[in-house]
Parts: sequence; structure tokens; C-alpha cells
Amino acid sequence: MKLRIGQGWDLHRFCEGTSLRLGGVEIPFERSLLGHSDADALCHALIDALLGASHLGDIGRLFPDTDPAYENINSMLLLQSVLGLLQERGWQPVNVDCTIITQQPKLAPHIPLIEESLAKAMGLPADCVSVKAKTAEGLGPVGRQECLEAMAVVLLQQRNDFFFWAER
Ligand code: MG
Repeated sequence: MKLRIGQGWDLHRFCEGTSLRLGGVEIPFERSLLGHSDADALCHALIDALLGASHLGDIGRLFPDTDPAYENINSMLLLQSVLGLLQERGWQPVNVDCTIITQQPKLAPHIPLIEESLAKAMGLPADCVSVKAKTAEGLGPVGRQECLEAMAVVLLQQRNDFFFWAER
């Protein structure tokens, strides 16, 4: 069996608003995240991890932020699109491990829903999707609550009958 690991990172600034979206889950907050899409930084980090592991480029190349088609788009739709590309090449996620770094809001109460949302989107068992949250101890732009960061690591496996794709 062929295995590949990928990592992704993303950052979005906070802006005026009433909620933010992480892993497809709407989280009420006194501010939102700024972005061309829905600014779901966790989803974007995961997409880049998937694209990295499968050597299919990156989120900016596939979904340019200059394209009006992606304005305010639900990033879970972008995730579905990327999973489709992977599936065409025989790649299947094995497990995902993510970290969100933000000072606010407190994410602990939302983690189970976020994990469930991502597991459902990827067709993975609950114990194969981990999402963790940390603060930045008040340091740097994250600590000053100017932005939120997300990181993701993903393991992919490729079906045996798709091995030839990896040789290209
Ligand atoms: Mg992004």
C-alpha cells in the first residue's frame, strides 16, 4: 500500500462580525474571520495538507482568491472538490490531525462538532480526525487577537490499482 503524508497551514485576520466558521462549523463570536471565501482557516489548512500529500498543488492554485466564483464560498465545498480529485487518483485519507491556534474564542466546547463535521466530510471514523486548540499565550499577532492560525497533517493511502499514478 502506498502512503503519503501532507501538511497544511493557514491564517486569517479577524474582522468585524458575529461568527466565524471552522471545519464547517459556525461558531458565534464577537468578530469574524476575513477572507475571499468564508475564511474557514481550518478547512483551508486541511485542503492544503490533502493537496500536498497527493502532489496536486495548493489551495491558491486550485481556487484563486481573484476568482469571483469563490467569493464567500463555503470552504467545505472546496474540501469536497479536493476529495473528489483525490478519489479520482485512488487516494483516500487515513487520518487527520489538526491544531487551531487562537486566543479567542475558547474552542473546547466546539471541538467535538468540528471533528464530527470533518470526519463526515471525509468519510472517516470519528477516531481518525483529531482537532486540537491552543492559545498563543498572548504573544504575537495571534496573542493580540489579530488573527487565527490553523495547521493540519494528513495521511493518505492509495489503492493498489492506482499505483501507476504515483509514477508520473
Ligand atoms: Mg485561507
